[in-house]
Formats: sequence, structure tokens, C-alpha cells
Amino acid sequence: MNKVAIITGGGRGIGAATSLLLAAKGYAVCINYVKNQPAAESVAARITEAGGSAMTFQADVSAEDEVQALFEAAQQRLGRVTHLVNNAGILFTQSALADISPERFQKVLNANVMSAFLCSKAFIHQAEGAGAIVNVSSAAARTGSPFEYIDYAASKGAMDSMTKGLSIELAARNIRVNSVRPGFIHTDMHADGGEPRRVERLAPQIPLKRGGTPEEVAQAIVWLLSDEASYVTGSFIDVAGGR
Ligand code: NAP
Repeated sequence: MNKVAIITGGGRGIGAATSLLLAAKGYAVCINYVKNQPAAESVAARITEAGGSAMTFQADVSAEDEVQALFEAAQQRLGRVTHLVNNAGILFTQSALADISPERFQKVLNANVMSAFLCSKAFIHQAEGAGAIVNVSSAAARTGSPFEYIDYAASKGAMDSMTKGLSIELAARNIRVNSVRPGFIHTDMHADGGEPRRVERLAPQIPLKRGGTPEEVAQAIVWLLSDEASYVTGSFIDVAGGR
């Protein structure tokens, strides 16, 4: 079976590391992005230069028609989609809940949970035979992110519930659904939260005394997608340095 993976938000950070590792393992990858085309193109170029198969596709994965277009394009160019990484995610400036606007709360839920719902649904409708989904959640689902981003933490908590429920709905079709919950990882996301050096500041509080790399998270995602994890579904791997 040809392995074809869509990685939402696959052009930067954890998504980029996952796209590169999947391609190195022989998957044809569809790298989705919403704004940063150059980043996505550069990941695709690295893959094709190394002899792999990759395409990029611009889509806001919180919009149903754009998700539809993403799956159609991937299927047309690479074949039926067999693996999905729901990785796209956003957060906003660190704030207490009392200072979070309803508009911001809604935006975070749309980008982080609606996207995973829409992409999972599109994946299920076109899937034939075995397959796998990995949802990129966060340790925030466990901690609640007080004084920082309860909206973000709540979106990841919702994602975890979806992982559990969907894993059972799809088990009889041999489609596995799992989650990776990263802790503090060195990516651009922390700058969006208003503190580019957040991981460095918090490193002393992490049992392993450092932030993680996108590549370390990608290893867990790629393992869960692989046949080596064939008896694993509805599971959560924390990649959080012991936190
Ligand atoms: P990042 O470097 O900021 O990358 C986020 C990616 O999501 C970008 O590629 C972005 O696309 C994409 N994206 C955002 N909204 C989108 C939308 N509506 N449609 C399509 N793509 C969208 O962040 P990251 O740290 O790698 O985060 C990846 C995932 O890991 C997220 O779900 C995040 O919540 C989770 N996570 C990260 C950490 C951490 O410490 N970094 C910890 C726990 C969990 P563009 O490139 O086009 O902007």
C-alpha cells in the first residue's frame, strides 16, 4: 500500500519535522500551510531533493470547503490519503481567563479543534482499509495553562476527548487514532504567545532541564502512525521532558 500523509501546518515547527521524517520513511507527504508558503515550499524542496515525494497546499483547515479542497488535491496528486497528522494550532498572548475575549476563545477553538474534526471527517470519508491519525495535543490539556492560555488548554482537552472517542469508532475499520502531547518545544509558537524565549525561561522547571526539539516530537508522531504501533489506539504519548 502506498503511504500518503497529510500534515496540517506541515511547513514549520513540529509539522515540518514530521513532514521530513515521514518522507524519509517513504511516505508521500502533503504539506498544508495557511500563510507561510515559503516555509512549506522549502520543506517540500528538501524532500524532493532527497528523492522523496511531496506537495504543498494552502488551506485554512478550520474551514470545511478548504479542507475538502486539501483532501481532493492530495488524493489527485499523491493517491488516497492513508495517514493524517492534525498538527495545525495557534495560541495568543499570555493572559488570565478574565482578559480573554470571546472572539479569541472562538478563534482558538476553531483553529485547534474544529480543524481536527473537519480533517478527521474528510479522512474517514475517503479512507479504504487500514489507516492512522495522530492528533498533536499538548501537555496544556493536563495543566490547564493558568494565567497563560486557558483557551488553548481547553482546545487541547477537547482534542483529547475526540482522540479517545474516535479511536473506538474507527477501531473496527483498523484505523488507529492516537495523540502526542508535547511540553515546551523550541518553535515559533512561543513568539505568538508574546514570549519568544519562554522555553528557555521555563527550562529549569522541566525535569529533564531543557526544552524539546520538533524532531523529538516528530519521532513519537511517526512511530504512532507506523505499523510498529499496530496495536496502539486511543493512546497518548507525552513528549514533555518528564513534566
Ligand atoms: P508553529 O511553529 O507556530 O506552527 C504552527 C503551524 O500551524 C504553522 O505551520 C501554521 O501554518 C499552521 N496553522 C495554524 N493555523 C492554521 C490553519 N487555520 N490552517 C492551516 N494551518 C494552520 O507551532 P508548533 O509549535 O510547531 O505547533 C504545532 C502543534 O504542536 C500545534 O498544534 C501546537 O499546539 C502543538 N504544541 C506545541 C508546543 C510547543 O511548545 N511548541 C507544545 C505543545 C503542543 P503557517 O506556517 O502557514 O503559518
